[in-house]
Amino acid sequence: MPRRQTKTQRKKGAFRGSYAGANTISFKDMLLKEPILRAISECGFEHPSEVQQSAISFAMVGQDMIVQAKSGMGKTAVFVIASLQQIEIDEDEPAIDTLVLCHSREMAFQVHGEFERLGKYLPEIKSGVLYGGVNFAEQKADLEKEIPHILVGTPGRIQHFLKAGLIKLDSLKRMILDECDDMLEDKSMRRQIQDIFKATPSTKQMMMCSATIGSNARKICRQISNMAEEIFIDDSKLTLHGLQQHYIDVDEKEKIKQLTTLLDKIDFNQVMIFVKSKERTTALNKILQESSFPSIFLHGGLTQEERLERYRKFKEFEARVLVSTNLCGRGVDMEKVNIVINFDMPRTSNDYLHRVGRAGRFGTKGMAITFVSSEKDKETFEEIQSRF
Ligand code: AMP
Repeated sequence: MPRRQTKTQRKKGAFRGSYAGANTISFKDMLLKEPILRAISECGFEHPSEVQQSAISFAMVGQDMIVQAKSGMGKTAVFVIASLQQIEIDEDEPAIDTLVLCHSREMAFQVHGEFERLGKYLPEIKSGVLYGGVNFAEQKADLEKEIPHILVGTPGRIQHFLKAGLIKLDSLKRMILDECDDMLEDKSMRRQIQDIFKATPSTKQMMMCSATIGSNARKICRQISNMAEEIFIDDSKLTLHGLQQHYIDVDEKEKIKQLTTLLDKIDFNQVMIFVKSKERTTALNKILQESSFPSIFLHGGLTQEERLERYRKFKEFEARVLVSTNLCGRGVDMEKVNIVINFDMPRTSNDYLHRVGRAGRFGTKGMAITFVSSEKDKETFEEIQSRF
Protein backbone atom coordinates (compact mmCIF):
# COMPACT_ATOMS: atom_id res chain seq x y z
CA MET A 1 0.00 0.00 0.00
CA PRO A 2 1.48 3.39 -0.93
CA ARG A 3 2.28 5.54 2.05
CA ARG A 4 2.41 8.96 0.46
CA GLN A 5 -0.88 10.46 -0.57
CA THR A 6 0.04 10.59 -4.16
CA LYS A 7 1.71 7.44 -3.71
CA THR A 8 0.52 -10.59 39.55
CA GLN A 9 3.56 -11.48 39.45
CA ARG A 10 3.48 -11.71 43.22
CA LYS A 11 6.65 -9.93 44.19
CA LYS A 12 7.14 -11.74 47.43
CA GLY A 13 7.91 -9.44 50.28
CA ALA A 14 7.33 -6.14 48.55
CA PHE A 15 3.99 -7.05 47.03
CA ARG A 16 0.94 -9.08 47.47
CA GLY A 17 -0.57 -9.92 44.15
CA SER A 18 -0.34 -12.25 41.29
CA TYR A 19 0.94 -12.70 37.84
CA ALA A 20 -1.33 -14.84 35.68
CA GLY A 21 -0.37 -18.44 35.65
CA ALA A 22 -0.83 -20.95 32.86
CA ASN A 23 -4.41 -21.74 33.85
CA THR A 24 -6.49 -19.85 31.34
CA ILE A 25 -9.95 -18.88 32.44
CA SER A 26 -12.59 -17.44 30.18
CA PHE A 27 -14.77 -14.38 30.69
CA LYS A 28 -17.69 -16.77 31.25
CA ASP A 29 -15.83 -18.43 34.13
CA MET A 30 -15.69 -15.06 35.84
CA LEU A 31 -19.44 -15.10 36.50
CA LEU A 32 -20.02 -11.71 34.97
CA LYS A 33 -23.51 -10.37 34.31
CA GLU A 34 -24.94 -11.54 31.01
CA PRO A 35 -25.19 -8.02 29.47
CA ILE A 36 -21.48 -7.49 30.19
CA LEU A 37 -20.57 -10.84 28.63
CA ARG A 38 -22.62 -9.91 25.58
CA ALA A 39 -20.79 -6.58 25.19
CA ILE A 40 -17.39 -8.25 25.72
CA SER A 41 -18.16 -10.70 22.97
CA GLU A 42 -19.34 -7.91 20.67
CA CYS A 43 -16.05 -6.08 21.26
CA GLY A 44 -14.33 -9.19 19.91
CA PHE A 45 -12.57 -10.02 23.20
CA GLU A 46 -12.22 -13.79 23.01
CA HIS A 47 -10.03 -14.45 26.04
CA PRO A 48 -9.13 -12.35 29.04
CA SER A 49 -5.57 -11.06 28.95
CA GLU A 50 -3.08 -11.90 31.65
CA VAL A 51 -3.89 -8.85 33.71
CA GLN A 52 -7.62 -9.39 33.26
CA GLN A 53 -7.31 -12.98 34.45
CA SER A 54 -5.39 -11.87 37.49
CA ALA A 55 -7.31 -8.77 38.42
CA ILE A 56 -10.99 -8.92 37.45
CA SER A 57 -12.03 -11.50 39.99
CA PHE A 58 -10.59 -9.43 42.88
CA ALA A 59 -11.73 -6.09 41.49
CA MET A 60 -15.31 -7.21 40.89
CA VAL A 61 -15.85 -8.10 44.53
CA GLY A 62 -14.82 -4.68 45.75
CA GLN A 63 -11.19 -5.35 46.64
CA ASP A 64 -8.81 -2.36 46.50
CA MET A 65 -6.37 -2.83 43.66
CA ILE A 66 -2.96 -1.58 42.58
CA VAL A 67 -2.35 -2.87 39.07
CA GLN A 68 0.75 -2.41 37.02
CA ALA A 69 -0.08 -3.82 33.64
CA LYS A 70 1.83 -3.80 30.41
CA SER A 71 0.62 -1.07 28.13
CA GLY A 72 -1.97 -2.27 25.66
CA MET A 73 -2.90 -5.44 27.53
CA GLY A 74 -6.37 -4.43 28.52
CA LYS A 75 -6.08 -2.86 31.96
CA THR A 76 -8.85 -0.37 31.20
CA ALA A 77 -11.30 -3.22 30.76
CA VAL A 78 -10.32 -4.52 34.22
CA PHE A 79 -11.77 -1.53 36.04
CA VAL A 80 -14.53 -0.91 33.52
CA ILE A 81 -15.84 -4.48 33.81
CA ALA A 82 -15.34 -4.59 37.58
CA SER A 83 -17.29 -1.34 38.00
CA LEU A 84 -20.14 -2.27 35.66
CA GLN A 85 -20.47 -5.60 37.42
CA GLN A 86 -20.88 -3.97 40.83
CA ILE A 87 -23.00 -0.89 40.22
CA GLU A 88 -26.41 -1.07 41.83
CA ILE A 89 -28.79 1.65 40.83
CA ASP A 90 -31.10 3.43 43.19
CA GLU A 91 -33.66 5.05 40.92
CA ASP A 92 -35.09 7.17 43.73
CA GLU A 93 -31.79 8.66 44.71
CA PRO A 94 -29.44 8.87 41.73
CA ALA A 95 -25.84 9.43 42.80
CA ILE A 96 -22.33 9.13 41.43
CA ASP A 97 -21.24 5.58 42.15
CA THR A 98 -17.90 5.37 40.32
CA LEU A 99 -15.38 8.13 39.70
CA VAL A 100 -12.49 7.65 37.28
CA LEU A 101 -9.69 10.20 37.16
CA CYS A 102 -7.47 10.32 34.08
CA HIS A 103 -4.30 12.29 33.45
CA SER A 104 -5.33 13.81 30.12
CA ARG A 105 -8.51 14.88 28.40
CA GLU A 106 -7.92 12.40 25.59
CA MET A 107 -7.65 9.56 28.11
CA ALA A 108 -10.84 10.67 29.86
CA PHE A 109 -12.60 10.64 26.51
CA GLN A 110 -11.19 7.20 25.67
CA VAL A 111 -12.00 5.65 29.05
CA HIS A 112 -15.53 7.05 28.91
CA GLY A 113 -15.84 5.38 25.48
CA GLU A 114 -14.86 2.02 27.03
CA PHE A 115 -17.61 2.38 29.65
CA GLU A 116 -20.11 3.07 26.88
CA ARG A 117 -18.87 0.14 24.80
CA LEU A 118 -18.79 -2.44 27.58
CA GLY A 119 -21.91 -1.04 29.22
CA LYS A 120 -23.90 -1.04 25.99
CA TYR A 121 -26.40 -3.62 27.27
CA LEU A 122 -26.79 -1.95 30.65
CA PRO A 123 -28.57 1.17 29.42
CA GLU A 124 -29.85 2.00 32.90
CA ILE A 125 -26.26 2.74 33.98
CA LYS A 126 -25.43 6.26 32.85
CA SER A 127 -21.94 7.56 32.36
CA GLY A 128 -20.61 11.07 31.90
CA VAL A 129 -17.30 12.73 31.23
CA LEU A 130 -15.87 16.07 32.42
CA TYR A 131 -12.63 17.64 31.26
CA GLY A 132 -11.23 21.11 30.85
CA GLY A 133 -11.05 23.13 27.67
CA VAL A 134 -14.74 22.74 26.82
CA ASN A 135 -17.66 24.89 27.79
CA PHE A 136 -18.30 24.74 31.54
CA ALA A 137 -21.92 25.89 31.27
CA GLU A 138 -22.79 23.12 28.82
CA GLN A 139 -21.22 20.47 31.05
CA LYS A 140 -23.09 21.93 34.02
CA ALA A 141 -26.39 21.82 32.14
CA ASP A 142 -25.79 18.16 31.15
CA LEU A 143 -25.10 17.23 34.76
CA GLU A 144 -28.21 19.01 35.96
CA LYS A 145 -30.30 17.03 33.49
CA GLU A 146 -28.95 13.70 34.66
CA ILE A 147 -26.57 12.59 37.40
CA PRO A 148 -24.32 9.91 35.90
CA HIS A 149 -23.59 6.74 37.86
CA ILE A 150 -20.13 6.70 36.37
CA LEU A 151 -18.19 9.93 36.08
CA VAL A 152 -14.90 10.02 34.18
CA GLY A 153 -12.77 13.15 34.17
CA THR A 154 -9.54 15.00 34.62
CA PRO A 155 -8.70 16.04 38.21
CA GLY A 156 -8.80 19.79 37.54
CA ARG A 157 -12.30 19.88 36.10
CA ILE A 158 -13.71 17.40 38.61
CA GLN A 159 -12.30 19.47 41.47
CA HIS A 160 -13.81 22.59 39.92
CA PHE A 161 -17.27 20.99 39.78
CA LEU A 162 -16.88 19.68 43.29
CA LYS A 163 -15.90 23.06 44.74
CA ALA A 164 -18.79 24.70 42.94
CA GLY A 165 -21.12 22.20 44.61
CA LEU A 166 -22.22 20.83 41.24
CA ILE A 167 -21.30 17.26 42.02
CA LYS A 168 -21.48 15.29 45.24
CA LEU A 169 -19.22 12.38 46.01
CA ASP A 170 -20.51 11.43 49.43
CA SER A 171 -22.15 8.23 48.18
CA LEU A 172 -19.19 7.19 46.04
CA LYS A 173 -18.57 3.43 45.98
CA ARG A 174 -15.48 3.34 43.76
CA MET A 175 -12.63 5.63 42.84
CA ILE A 176 -10.22 4.78 40.05
CA LEU A 177 -6.93 6.45 39.21
CA ASP A 178 -5.83 5.59 35.68
CA GLU A 179 -2.13 6.15 34.85
CA CYS A 180 -1.89 6.78 38.57
CA ASP A 181 1.86 7.31 38.74
CA ASP A 182 1.71 10.14 36.25
CA MET A 183 -1.05 11.87 38.16
CA LEU A 184 0.43 11.31 41.61
CA GLU A 185 3.90 12.47 40.61
CA ASP A 186 2.54 15.72 39.18
CA LYS A 187 2.33 18.03 42.22
CA SER A 188 -0.68 20.04 41.13
CA MET A 189 -2.67 16.98 40.06
CA ARG A 190 -1.76 15.26 43.30
CA ARG A 191 -3.21 18.16 45.26
CA GLN A 192 -6.37 18.11 43.18
CA ILE A 193 -6.71 14.35 43.72
CA GLN A 194 -6.21 14.80 47.46
CA ASP A 195 -8.99 17.38 47.55
CA ILE A 196 -11.32 15.11 45.61
CA PHE A 197 -10.36 12.13 47.75
CA LYS A 198 -11.29 14.02 50.93
CA ALA A 199 -14.82 14.53 49.61
CA THR A 200 -15.38 10.76 49.23
CA PRO A 201 -16.38 8.17 51.84
CA SER A 202 -13.59 6.11 53.39
CA THR A 203 -15.47 2.89 52.61
CA LYS A 204 -15.09 3.15 48.84
CA GLN A 205 -13.12 0.73 46.68
CA MET A 206 -9.86 2.19 45.32
CA MET A 207 -8.41 0.95 42.03
CA MET A 208 -5.16 2.39 40.72
CA CYS A 209 -3.33 1.34 37.61
CA SER A 210 -0.57 2.21 35.22
CA ALA A 211 2.06 0.57 33.01
CA THR A 212 4.66 1.93 35.39
CA ILE A 213 4.26 2.50 39.11
CA GLY A 214 7.42 3.95 40.65
CA SER A 215 8.22 3.57 44.33
CA ASN A 216 6.94 7.04 45.20
CA ALA A 217 3.60 6.54 43.49
CA ARG A 218 3.35 3.04 44.95
CA LYS A 219 3.78 4.42 48.44
CA ILE A 220 0.98 6.92 47.92
CA CYS A 221 -1.22 4.22 46.37
CA ARG A 222 -0.78 2.13 49.48
CA GLN A 223 -1.55 5.06 51.73
CA ILE A 224 -4.84 5.78 50.01
CA SER A 225 -6.01 2.18 49.78
CA ASN A 226 -6.82 -0.55 52.21
CA MET A 227 -5.11 -3.96 51.95
CA ALA A 228 -4.96 -3.54 48.19
CA GLU A 229 -4.39 -6.56 46.03
CA GLU A 230 -1.21 -5.68 44.16
CA ILE A 231 -0.87 -7.12 40.72
CA PHE A 232 2.50 -6.25 39.51
CA ILE A 233 4.49 -7.18 36.45
CA ASP A 234 8.20 -6.69 36.93
CA ASP A 235 10.24 -4.52 34.61
CA SER A 236 11.74 -7.34 32.60
CA LYS A 237 8.22 -8.39 31.64
CA LEU A 238 7.25 -4.85 30.82
CA THR A 239 9.17 -4.89 27.55
CA LEU A 240 6.64 -5.55 24.92
CA HIS A 241 6.62 -8.93 23.33
CA GLY A 242 6.02 -8.66 19.63
CA LEU A 243 7.66 -5.22 19.55
CA GLN A 244 10.90 -4.88 17.63
CA GLN A 245 13.01 -2.07 19.04
CA HIS A 246 15.65 -0.28 16.96
CA TYR A 247 17.73 2.84 17.26
CA ILE A 248 19.55 4.99 14.74
CA ASP A 249 22.55 7.21 15.42
CA VAL A 250 21.76 10.33 13.50
CA ASP A 251 22.87 13.96 13.43
CA GLU A 252 20.20 16.43 14.47
CA LYS A 253 20.39 18.00 10.99
CA GLU A 254 19.87 14.66 9.28
CA LYS A 255 16.80 13.62 11.26
CA ILE A 256 14.21 14.77 8.76
CA LYS A 257 15.92 13.11 5.84
CA GLN A 258 16.27 9.93 7.87
CA LEU A 259 12.60 10.07 8.86
CA THR A 260 11.23 10.54 5.34
CA THR A 261 13.49 7.75 4.05
CA LEU A 262 12.15 5.46 6.76
CA LEU A 263 8.53 6.37 6.09
CA ASP A 264 9.10 5.63 2.42
CA LYS A 265 10.72 2.28 3.07
CA ILE A 266 8.71 0.84 5.92
CA ASP A 267 5.36 -0.75 5.34
CA PHE A 268 3.16 0.76 8.02
CA ASN A 269 -0.52 0.92 8.94
CA GLN A 270 -0.24 3.99 11.12
CA VAL A 271 2.77 5.71 12.63
CA MET A 272 3.12 7.87 15.73
CA ILE A 273 6.11 10.21 15.75
CA PHE A 274 7.10 11.74 19.07
CA VAL A 275 8.90 15.06 19.35
CA LYS A 276 9.90 17.12 22.36
CA SER A 277 7.97 20.38 21.92
CA LYS A 278 4.75 21.82 20.56
CA GLU A 279 6.71 23.92 18.08
CA ARG A 280 8.41 20.84 16.73
CA THR A 281 5.11 19.01 16.17
CA THR A 282 3.85 21.87 13.98
CA ALA A 283 7.11 22.25 12.09
CA LEU A 284 7.63 18.54 11.47
CA ASN A 285 4.02 18.02 10.47
CA LYS A 286 4.32 20.82 7.91
CA ILE A 287 7.42 19.25 6.40
CA LEU A 288 5.75 15.83 6.23
CA GLN A 289 2.66 17.25 4.58
CA GLU A 290 4.80 19.10 2.06
CA SER A 291 6.42 15.76 1.28
CA SER A 292 2.90 14.34 0.76
CA PHE A 293 2.72 12.17 3.86
CA PRO A 294 -0.86 11.99 5.24
CA SER A 295 0.06 13.49 8.55
CA ILE A 296 -1.58 15.46 11.37
CA PHE A 297 -0.25 16.78 14.66
CA LEU A 298 -1.41 16.98 18.23
CA HIS A 299 -0.21 18.84 21.30
CA GLY A 300 -1.64 20.34 24.46
CA GLY A 301 -1.67 23.90 23.09
CA LEU A 302 -4.56 23.24 20.70
CA THR A 303 -8.15 23.93 21.68
CA GLN A 304 -10.02 21.02 23.16
CA GLU A 305 -12.25 20.73 20.08
CA GLU A 306 -9.19 20.53 17.84
CA ARG A 307 -7.51 18.01 20.10
CA LEU A 308 -10.49 15.68 20.12
CA GLU A 309 -11.15 16.11 16.42
CA ARG A 310 -7.58 15.17 15.53
CA TYR A 311 -7.60 12.32 18.00
CA ARG A 312 -10.81 11.02 16.37
CA LYS A 313 -9.39 11.49 12.88
CA PHE A 314 -6.33 9.42 13.66
CA LYS A 315 -8.30 6.78 15.55
CA GLU A 316 -10.67 6.42 12.61
CA PHE A 317 -7.77 6.02 10.19
CA GLU A 318 -8.41 9.29 8.35
CA ALA A 319 -4.75 10.12 8.84
CA ARG A 320 -1.89 7.66 8.80
CA VAL A 321 0.82 9.65 10.52
CA LEU A 322 0.49 11.48 13.84
CA VAL A 323 3.17 13.83 15.09
CA SER A 324 2.73 14.42 18.81
CA THR A 325 4.36 15.61 21.99
CA ASN A 326 4.31 13.33 25.02
CA LEU A 327 0.61 14.18 25.26
CA CYS A 328 -0.17 10.98 23.33
CA GLY A 329 2.68 9.07 24.92
CA ARG A 330 0.53 7.39 27.52
CA GLY A 331 -2.49 5.20 27.48
CA VAL A 332 -3.85 6.40 24.15
CA ASP A 333 -5.15 3.35 22.35
CA MET A 334 -4.87 3.43 18.57
CA GLU A 335 -5.20 -0.13 17.48
CA LYS A 336 -3.79 0.31 13.97
CA VAL A 337 -0.53 1.93 15.04
CA ASN A 338 2.28 -0.49 14.29
CA ILE A 339 5.24 1.90 14.24
CA VAL A 340 6.38 4.40 16.85
CA ILE A 341 9.25 6.74 16.03
CA ASN A 342 11.03 8.68 18.73
CA PHE A 343 12.16 11.56 16.54
CA ASP A 344 13.30 13.20 19.77
CA MET A 345 14.52 11.10 22.67
CA PRO A 346 12.00 10.74 25.50
CA ARG A 347 13.03 12.33 28.79
CA THR A 348 13.07 9.12 30.81
CA SER A 349 12.96 5.37 30.34
CA ASN A 350 9.41 5.40 31.71
CA ASP A 351 8.36 7.83 28.99
CA TYR A 352 10.06 5.54 26.47
CA LEU A 353 8.09 2.53 27.68
CA HIS A 354 4.81 4.40 27.48
CA ARG A 355 5.54 5.81 24.03
CA VAL A 356 6.62 2.56 22.40
CA GLY A 357 3.62 0.87 23.99
CA ARG A 358 1.47 2.74 21.46
CA ALA A 359 2.60 0.15 18.87
CA GLY A 360 1.90 -3.54 19.21
CA ARG A 361 -1.26 -3.12 21.27
CA PHE A 362 -2.94 -6.23 22.57
CA GLY A 363 -0.48 -8.74 21.21
CA THR A 364 -0.18 -7.36 17.67
CA LYS A 365 3.28 -6.89 16.15
CA GLY A 366 4.92 -3.50 16.21
CA MET A 367 8.17 -1.65 15.80
CA ALA A 368 9.78 1.22 17.67
CA ILE A 369 12.60 3.30 16.19
CA THR A 370 14.51 5.82 18.29
CA PHE A 371 16.78 8.55 16.97
CA VAL A 372 19.88 9.09 19.05
CA SER A 373 21.70 12.32 18.28
CA SER A 374 23.21 14.23 21.21
CA GLU A 375 25.40 13.14 24.10
CA LYS A 376 22.37 13.59 26.39
CA ASP A 377 20.34 11.30 24.09
CA LYS A 378 23.05 8.67 24.39
CA GLU A 379 22.93 8.77 28.17
CA THR A 380 19.14 8.42 28.25
CA PHE A 381 19.26 5.66 25.67
CA GLU A 382 21.85 3.72 27.63
CA GLU A 383 19.50 3.78 30.59
CA ILE A 384 16.66 2.56 28.36
CA GLN A 385 18.82 -0.24 26.95
CA SER A 386 19.96 -1.43 30.32
CA ARG A 387 16.41 -1.38 31.67
CA PHE A 388 14.67 -3.15 28.81
P1 AMP B 1 -5.69 -0.96 27.22
O1 AMP B 1 -4.41 -1.63 27.62
O2 AMP B 1 -6.68 -0.96 28.31
O3 AMP B 1 -5.44 0.40 26.64
O4 AMP B 1 -6.35 -1.84 26.03
C1 AMP B 1 -5.72 -2.04 24.80
C2 AMP B 1 -6.67 -2.52 23.73
O5 AMP B 1 -6.97 -3.90 23.92
C3 AMP B 1 -8.00 -1.80 23.68
O6 AMP B 1 -8.31 -1.52 22.33
C4 AMP B 1 -9.00 -2.81 24.22
O7 AMP B 1 -10.28 -2.63 23.67
C5 AMP B 1 -8.38 -4.12 23.79
N1 AMP B 1 -8.70 -5.25 24.67
C6 AMP B 1 -8.89 -5.22 26.01
N2 AMP B 1 -9.14 -6.45 26.49
C7 AMP B 1 -9.13 -7.29 25.42
C8 AMP B 1 -9.33 -8.71 25.27
N3 AMP B 1 -9.56 -9.50 26.31
N4 AMP B 1 -9.23 -9.22 24.02
C9 AMP B 1 -8.95 -8.41 22.95
N5 AMP B 1 -8.75 -7.07 23.03
C10 AMP B 1 -8.83 -6.51 24.26
